[in-house]
Amino acid sequence: MDIPLRFYNTMDRRLEDFVPIDPENVRVYTCGPTVYDFAHIGNLRTFLFEDVLRRTLKLAGFGVTQVMNLTDIDDKTIREAKAAGLELRDYTDTFIEAFFNDLDTLRVERAEHYPRATDYIPQMVELVQRLEAAGHAYRSEGSIYYRIGTFEDYGKLSGVRPEDNLVGARVDSEEYEKDDARDFVLWKGARDGEPAWEPEIGPGRPGRHLECSAMSLALLGEEFDIHTGGVDNIFPHHENEIAQSEGVTEKPFARFWLHAEHLVVEGEKMAKSKGNFFTLRDLVEKGHDPVAIRYLLISVPYRQKLNFTMDGLHASVQAIDRIANTLRRLQHTPAVEGAGELSLDDIAGFYRDLHEALADDLNTARALGALHTVLRHVNTALDGAGISAEAREALHNALDEANSVLDVFPADEAAAGGDDEIQSLVEERTAARAAKN
Ligand code: AMP
Ligand code: ZN
Repeated sequence: MDIPLRFYNTMDRRLEDFVPIDPENVRVYTCGPTVYDFAHIGNLRTFLFEDVLRRTLKLAGFGVTQVMNLTDIDDKTIREAKAAGLELRDYTDTFIEAFFNDLDTLRVERAEHYPRATDYIPQMVELVQRLEAAGHAYRSEGSIYYRIGTFEDYGKLSGVRPEDNLVGARVDSEEYEKDDARDFVLWKGARDGEPAWEPEIGPGRPGRHLECSAMSLALLGEEFDIHTGGVDNIFPHHENEIAQSEGVTEKPFARFWLHAEHLVVEGEKMAKSKGNFFTLRDLVEKGHDPVAIRYLLISVPYRQKLNFTMDGLHASVQAIDRIANTLRRLQHTPAVEGAGELSLDDIAGFYRDLHEALADDLNTARALGALHTVLRHVNTALDGAGISAEAREALHNALDEANSVLDVFPADEAAAGGDDEIQSLVEERTAARAAKN
């Protein structure tokens, strides 16, 4: 792939050419799930965008180190573990396992690291100490807060400025979504009935924003290439991460900030709290094909909202059926020497369309469009004079490349012609055609 990648950088609010710090190893940090329940397909849309991102980086020839944190301690995990009568770790283990199952079901490639917040307490404590030493933190009633007024760049990602808001107001809650810039909690003083650690900074547990700064620092270093998440992460979460990380390193933290728009249902964000959600297992249990769900969730470019409907899911089933049928037909139709209906130029055109689409801020809609176009062409050629061995070989490589990012082809067994009925229908059709019937 020789077209330079361009991404929309939330920090600068424009498309920019992607140039990594180290092309051998693009470092990506991804905000992962809060493991208090099953992920809904809105969460999974964001994780699929990140899957397309890492696969595209690899297609472009870069090495990738991706870190995705698992938030296994926060208000919600503590509340739900208590309700279930389980130790926090036992409770979150179940949902971590469920999360990895969901990733496998949707063919999401594994990141290199999945650190759990509770395994990074020493790194978080050290970060709090450094923030205190740098004058960004203060203590109150057993907790430690970040004083956002001490960080000049506060608001540079989200546009939310501290001076417009409640300077000096504090917030302990993890679920504030209003555009109020407030001093946020770094370390929450120990409370009855909550898990607590006893480090030098005092008994308590980490605030919600601390883990991502501590883990990215530990696993990716002070500066890295790409930070991703859903748009709801921009404020306050990512703004607070920047304040924490740059507050100690005084270096730009992530170069590129990429944010996925939401999956919506009838115009509203899909969310647990709204009750308007589907989990992947709900849909799979009802008999929906996971590949069709993957197709649907990547069919709209990540920076646009995607409206989830059953009609949309059915259309995706038809789309992957069309793909699978053409692949099968191609596989079961012998090459025809000298046939020129699908030329090497056509295949070069397909590569170009695919690469242009992905390089254009991961335009998956266009990439899938290019795939359908070439497969239509394949059908026309098979209806006509056929496809030469040389073109077949080139086509095969091009399709493999497209699928290395999109991953919407049927599983190998199916494609390998396990389906005798279809094979015999194809043979009948070929015989009928030869007899001009
Ligand atoms: P959470 O488990 O709540 O921490 O969320 C995990 C990821 O899902 C985050 O990157 C969120 O931004 C993202 N997310 C949450 N709701 C949606 C939605 N309706 N559509 C797309 N992404 C979402
Ligand atoms: Zn994060």
